[in-house]
Amino acid sequence: MDIEDLATRILAGERRALARAITLVESGRADHRVQARALIERLHGHDNVALRVGLSGTPGVGKSTFIEAFGMMLTAQGLKVAVLAVDPSSARSGGSILGDKTRMERLSRDRNAFIRPSPSQSHLGGVARRTREAIDLCEAAGFDVILIETVGVGQSETVVAEMSDLFLLLLAPAGGDELQGVKRGIMETADIILINKADGDLKATATRTCADYAGALRLLRKRVQDPEGFPKALTVSAVEENGLDRAWEEMTTLSDWRREAGHFEARRAAQARYWFEAEVREGLLARLRREPVKGAMTTLAHQVEAGEISAAAAAEELLETYLGEVPPA
Ligand code: GDP
Repeated sequence: MDIEDLATRILAGERRALARAITLVESGRADHRVQARALIERLHGHDNVALRVGLSGTPGVGKSTFIEAFGMMLTAQGLKVAVLAVDPSSARSGGSILGDKTRMERLSRDRNAFIRPSPSQSHLGGVARRTREAIDLCEAAGFDVILIETVGVGQSETVVAEMSDLFLLLLAPAGGDELQGVKRGIMETADIILINKADGDLKATATRTCADYAGALRLLRKRVQDPEGFPKALTVSAVEENGLDRAWEEMTTLSDWRREAGHFEARRAAQARYWFEAEVREGLLARLRREPVKGAMTTLAHQVEAGEISAAAAAEELLETYLGEVPPA
């Protein structure tokens, strides 16, 4: 594959080249990894800064309906929108339930939109890297807004929050009791909580739910890096396309404020550091699972089992052999 040619075409905003490049970064093949790294390096330093928006919500809350309506609104304003997904369940179910084009048919036909379903990968680490690289590629291809969708379960929300400039939480109208169901950690990562389905019979409940969350958000520690009133809760109706413009207005207010105050850049820098450290940990673990360390570990494990050497001494011996001598802390 001609990496230079691919890079040129991505920088020119060619969607087919972008799709091909994402397929490349998704591949687990060693030679593909080498090419993917070369491509990412080559594109590094391009000057387009997209707004990366993480979006989380449980299945059925209206994520695809919202992304489609919201995405169409943005493309109508002349913005280029990419949709990516981090799907923690795709490995198990074998199929993707997020970022699926059939869930966003109108948006997928939009020339200014690019939708990429989540790949089926075996572990979240792989999905995280692939998504980060796909974000880089979309940004290089000139997209203005990159929506990163995930399901509100487990670790995937943290993963998405660590690669987003803004994090949205989509919720359904519900009775007050269910407020407890949203984990505190998620409330703390959310910049804007959107109560969807604020229409028809659900409208009054949605308004009440929104007030409940607004109250809960006020109790959280105020973030020094944000302007007055954030994080905030809003009602929207993805189906009736109500409140989407307001949501976008709040998102731009927040991101503009952070840009001016230097927090936008600082957050990206902290995220880059976070992912560097995560990559180092992943890389170390991967090397432990490969020869020659794997064999040495098995041998030492047998010696530990037989009581010939203590667990701590065996571990130290292994680490010293492969990582060099570590002075005592
Ligand atoms: P996802 O699983 O989070 O992607 O949710 P979907 O977008 O597939 O929506 C799940 C269901 O909720 C579908 O039947 C939608 O039509 C419905 N839905 C989504 N948004 C709204 C909304 O704003 N109002 C109402 N009344 N229903 C909605």
